[in-house]
Order: sequence, then C-alpha cells, then structure tokens
Amino acid sequence: MHPNHSAPSRIARALTIGWSDTPRGRLLLRRAIARLISVALRIRSRSFQRNAVASALVVAPHPDDETFGCGGAVALLVRNRAAVQVVFITDGSASHPAHPTAAPDAIAARRKAEARSATGILGVDWERVAFLDERDGTLAGLDTGRAREVAGKIAAMLARLAPEAILLPCRLDGSSEHDASFALVSRALQLAQIRPRLLEFPVWSWWNPLLLLRPMFACRRVWHLDVRGVLDVKARAIASYASQTDPIAPETVPALPSGFASMFLCGEEFLFER
Ligand SMILES: [Zn+2]
Repeated sequence: MHPNHSAPSRIARALTIGWSDTPRGRLLLRRAIARLISVALRIRSRSFQRNAVASALVVAPHPDDETFGCGGAVALLVRNRAAVQVVFITDGSASHPAHPTAAPDAIAARRKAEARSATGILGVDWERVAFLDERDGTLAGLDTGRAREVAGKIAAMLARLAPEAILLPCRLDGSSEHDASFALVSRALQLAQIRPRLLEFPVWSWWNPLLLLRPMFACRRVWHLDVRGVLDVKARAIASYASQTDPIAPETVPALPSGFASMFLCGEEFLFER
C-alpha cells in the first residue's frame, strides 16, 4: 500500500479534504462519495458470473491488496472450483518506516504470515500462493534490468498457468507501486505472449473515490460482484492483516488510515475490464 500524489490523486484529495476539517468528517465524506460512486458504478455495471473464469492469477503489489480489492471475488471463484493463484510482488516491508522496534525484515516476515493466513481463509491452496519478495517501496523506481527480471518472473508464472484472467489493481489506482505493478504485468504479458482477460480492482481508489470516475467511463465493461455471501470470509481475511489495521506498539496509530479497512467491508466489489 503506497498512496501517491499524482495529479488526479491531488485533485481528489483537494476535493474530498477541502470540504471538511476533521478526520471523522473527512472519513464520512469519503464514505459518502464512495457510496454515490458505487451507485453510479452499479448502474453502469453488469453482473459478474462466478463461473465467468475457470482460472485466474491474482496480482497483489503488497500483502493485503488481494483481500481488500478482490477478496470476495477470490472466495467466490474458489468456491466455484476455479484455479486461483495469488502472487505477491513486494514483501510489504515499508509499511512502518519509522518504527522504533519493528525492523523492515520483521515487518516483511509478519506480513508474509498474514498473507498466508488471509489467502488460506479465502480458500486459496497453500501451493498456489507465491511471493516474489521485491523490496517494498522500490517498484516505481526499478532500473531497466531489475524491471525486466521481475516481469520475467511474472511471465514465467503466466506461461506455466495460462490463466483465463488476471486480477490486479487498477492502473492509476492512486499508488505509485500499484501503477508500477500494472506496468510489470503488461511487460510480462508481452514476454509470455498470452492475452488473458485483465480485470482491474480498485484499492486506493476507494480511499480517493473520485479516482473511480476515470475507469468508470474509460472501461468497456464494469463488472459487479455480489459478495454478501462471502463477506464473513472476507472480513476474517482482512482481520488477518492486523499489522496494517492495528498499531504495533509503541506506535499508537496503524499503518493504514483510520477507517480504511472498513470501506472494504461492504457486500459488493467491482472489476474493470478495458
Ligand atoms: Zn498495495
């Protein structure tokens, strides 16, 4: 998770934050805008059938993106016996950069364990979870050789799995690392020379919901998933990521903004397809 400050993100922040001066007020405003945009997305969307894909690779730049962004979709696909593989690109080690006692390697180990737990709760087989262990916070600045290497690893997975679909964070999701992940996957698709469906899920876009307007209008299809039947599963998977949602002592605030996780505890998810 790494929100950035791109132009749309700044505009969204200015619009959402400028209207309210308290954290509580800002959160209510974010929720209200997200809800309004959800209504528009629902009108624009079609229902995603859980048997729409028989195999999928879920790409998570950080441990937790898969659960927040498409945990319900993953749980539904697995229940429908789709072959679901999850790959985590970074180790998540940068979530507590100034922590006095939890070193980046300890954070990475903890987040890997949390990812194992969360994906297990969603129903993904242990052997279908992969970690590329790139250093968190470096994806947007990889040099050409390193980017080629990471894309090559993803390409090898794609060639081996030949998934019908890739689920990954939206391009321009309000996070430089999510944007970099999208570019790495695009590169990997060229290397593997396959063309699965790309189904993009919002993560940080829900936090700056005006960012959702672009994919809403730009995408050929917006898919709606009713995930109420697996919401308890998604909630338990989210609860696995306590290192992100709860403070790690002696810090008193969590890595994620207050109220972030709760925005994903709703009975619907959206996927964008170009
Ligand atoms: Zn992330």
